[in-house]
Amino acid sequence: MIEKLAELRDAQLEVWPLARANYESLGFSERRSFRIGALEGALQFNPARKVSTGAPTDAAAIRQRPCFLCGSNRPAEQTTETIVAGWDFLVNPYPIFPLHFTIASVRHVPQGDIPIEMASMAERLPGMTVFFNGAHAGASAPDHLHCQAVRTAELPLMRYLEDGGDIAALPFQVYYDIITPDVSGMIRLHVMTRIGGKDVKSGAEDLSLVNAYMWLGSDGSLRVAIVPRGAHRPSCYTSSDDMPGIMVSPGAIDMAGIIILPRLADFKAMTDADIRKVYSEVALPPVDDSSDSEQND
Ligand SMILES: [Zn+2]
Repeated sequence: MIEKLAELRDAQLEVWPLARANYESLGFSERRSFRIGALEGALQFNPARKVSTGAPTDAAAIRQRPCFLCGSNRPAEQTTETIVAGWDFLVNPYPIFPLHFTIASVRHVPQGDIPIEMASMAERLPGMTVFFNGAHAGASAPDHLHCQAVRTAELPLMRYLEDGGDIAALPFQVYYDIITPDVSGMIRLHVMTRIGGKDVKSGAEDLSLVNAYMWLGSDGSLRVAIVPRGAHRPSCYTSSDDMPGIMVSPGAIDMAGIIILPRLADFKAMTDADIRKVYSEVALPPVDDSSDSEQND
């Protein structure tokens, strides 16, 4: 199936100059590795992502622009592939990885809860991780339901979980489970898609403050990881080229260990302390399972 998607990408790059330019420049994008807690990730300098990282996501700005995920407004060059009914697989014209797809609902409905269909997509795309940015957690089109897919091997968090890494050693809270193909597994899957985050300022629980990931493990069974979020953007966030701060707007890929920085100055200057602070502000603290859990047993 990855081959089919690679063919879709190659066919698109033949006819779509914008996408071709962005995939070509990806080959030259610089990376710098970091380690925060047990998470061994990397910063990626990616100027083409300014359009997404700097995107205004307030309701007024969204109303004023045509929805770029609706079939009628898509670029003329963009074609689709159907992997799961009701969803259009599209080549992402602003890629972070050489294989990067947007999976848009065929209907213009808001980015609501974590779509359970992600499980079907993951099952049909061995080797790929399907992921979701909640409306308040990195989605640049919160008005149109969508998820994305990239190769699992590109995502440090997925590699760590696959290797049996301890979730308590990660720098922020992560829920992870291997879903068995039986009724209890289906119930577990449903429960996990109802995990949300908690706004650190207001204390309000929010189902759209979440990033979700589903993929098939090496044994062929479904993996689900959920990152509950505490804020959409960190306090250092800036959307302007010449303002102090850091142009960083974490979505599922950033939380999975690849932090996208559209400004070269940020890429050069960002320290481990900055990264730790960003993660601690936009996610929730890791759960220490060694301490108070015994009281409830
Ligand atoms: Zn739309």
